Order: sequence, then structure tokens, then C-alpha cells
Amino acid sequence: MTAELLNGREIAKDYRAGLQEEVEKLKTQGVVPNLTVVIVGNDGASLSYVRSKNKAAEKIGMESAIVHLPEETSEDEVLQKIDELNNDDSVSGILVQVPLPEQVDENKVLEAIAPHKDVDGFSPVNIGRLYTGQRTFVPCTPLGIMELLKHTGSLEGKTVAVVGRSHIVGQPVAKLLTNENATVTLMHSRTKDMVAQLKNFEVVVSAVGKPGLISGKDLKEGAIVIDVGNTVVDDKLVGDVDFESAKEVASYITPVPGGVGPLTITMVLNNTLLAAKWHNGFE
Ligand code: NAP
Repeated sequence: MTAELLNGREIAKDYRAGLQEEVEKLKTQGVVPNLTVVIVGNDGASLSYVRSKNKAAEKIGMESAIVHLPEETSEDEVLQKIDELNNDDSVSGILVQVPLPEQVDENKVLEAIAPHKDVDGFSPVNIGRLYTGQRTFVPCTPLGIMELLKHTGSLEGKTVAVVGRSHIVGQPVAKLLTNENATVTLMHSRTKDMVAQLKNFEVVVSAVGKPGLISGKDLKEGAIVIDVGNTVVDDKLVGDVDFESAKEVASYITPVPGGVGPLTITMVLNNTLLAAKWHNGFE
């Protein structure tokens, strides 16, 4: 079998076109969605990621700003900036680019973002809402993974292995998959014979960050493979799955790059639109 490619760039392009239409509609009702991204310091990769979110927002008609604070900014100064943005009615969504410099406590900063502007969905209030089935901002990478999986058919009753149990990817995506009535096994570094077990699963979502962790021989024939892993090797971005061997066994597979990544940024835009709508009383 040669797998069908889940082309994240194409799927993201279509999704963003739909968002753009909704942004235009909202603007005619006097609401302009605004995404403001806070970055502390000068890390090159983080700066380029922030700029790409900023550009993507502007491209679909949103307003977007970057608040760039110097590396030596104190925790109090970052918290003060967040407070200002929380109270600024023109700002719909706030993102804080991590990692933050060591003098700034990441958890304190994420907790300080007003839940109705937390478009990453990382604040404890929004995480709690996700697990109790309330309306919330779902973290962007898990939401993007679910959008990719929509293109493979129903997940009802499917067996899914989620490899990796982080708060930003593995755990929330396991919850979203369960909501779709899949039967989910959450695996991690202490799972016994993790790779050998994968042959039992119809869907594999790998969010680890170890190139070559999974290859075609480890997969069930016809498995759906979502590779979230992003590791730079020799200046190239690579996933957890050996694409060449896996595509011969899988029914659907995401490439790296061009799979999950474009959907993650798209879902930041999705959540910013929701923030603007919900805050202004639109459903
Ligand atoms: P993380 O917080 O480092 O978590 C990695 C997870 O992998 C942990 O749960 C760890 O288990 C597990 N793990 C490590 N080695 C393992 C092994 N040999 N077998 C099974 N599980 C193993 O990472 P993350 O933030 O979730 O990110 C994971 C990957 O996704 C990274 O490559 C990251 O760059 C990428 N990512 C991509 C996007 C995107 O938009 N494409 C977005 C976010 C993240 P323990 O819990 O036991 O330590």
C-alpha cells in the first residue's frame, strides 16, 4: 500500500480561506479580531515563529501585533504587560512565546493571561474546561491533529496509540480522540515495548521528538499515521516516523514538514476568531 498524503499545507489553506470569510463578516459588524504575541528575548527560531503567526493573522484580515521585550525583562514587567493586554479591549487573543528567559516563571505568566484571551488554551482554567467538556480554547496542535484526522473518516471505535504525554500535545489530543469515541492508549518513555505494541493500532499519533522512533515495519497494515515530531537534523526538520518505509504500510500519513505544523498556526487563528466572537457576544 502507498499511503495517501495528509497535506497539511493544502488543508490549512482551505481552512484559512473559511476563517478569512468569517473575519470579513465579523468586521462588517464592527469587530476586528486582534492577535497579540509577546516574546521575551532574541532567540532566532522563536522570533521567526512569532513573525509567521503575525503574518498569517494579517493575511486573513486580522490585526496583529508583536510585543518584543528585552532578554533581561523581569517577571514583574512581563506580568504587567500581560495585565495591560488583558485590559485592552482592542486585543482579542494573547500568545506568549515560550521558552521564556530563566528569571521569568512560565506557569505564572500563562496563568496571568485572562482565560477569555488565552488562545493557546494553556491556562489552568481553560485546561480544566477542556476536561470537563465546557466551551474553551482547545490547544492548537491537538486541534490541528483532529482537523487532519477528519480527512481520514470517522474515528468512532478506532484503536489509537498516542505516543507522548505532554500537556500541550499528547494529553489533550488523547482527550479529543476520546470525545470522538476512539479507544485511546497513551504511551510514553516508560511504556514497556512501546514500538512492538504499535502493530495493534489503527491510528498512531506520535508526539515525541525522536527521529526514526517508528518505522514501517512497526505499523499495522493500513494504519493512519500522524507525525507531530519536529526535530532539526542537519538543518532539516524531521519527524518521529521514518516516512519512506511508513508510507508503504499506512493508509494515510502526514509529512514533516508540511503536515501538522501548518495546522497548528491555523488553529491559533481559529481560536483568535473565536475569542473575538465570544467576547463580543457572537456564537
Ligand atoms: P515533550 O514535552 O518533550 O514530550 C515528549 C513526550 O515523549 C514525553 O511524554 C515523553 O515521555 C515521550 N517520550 C520520550 N521518549 C520516548 C520514547 N522513546 N518512547 C515513547 N515516548 C517517549 O514534547 P512535546 O512538547 O509534546 O513535543 C513533542 C514533539 O512534537 C517535539 O518534536 C515537538 O517539537 C513537536 N511539536 C510539534 C508541533 C507542530 O506544530 N508540528 C507542535 C508542538 C510540538 P515521558 O513523559 O515519560 O518523559
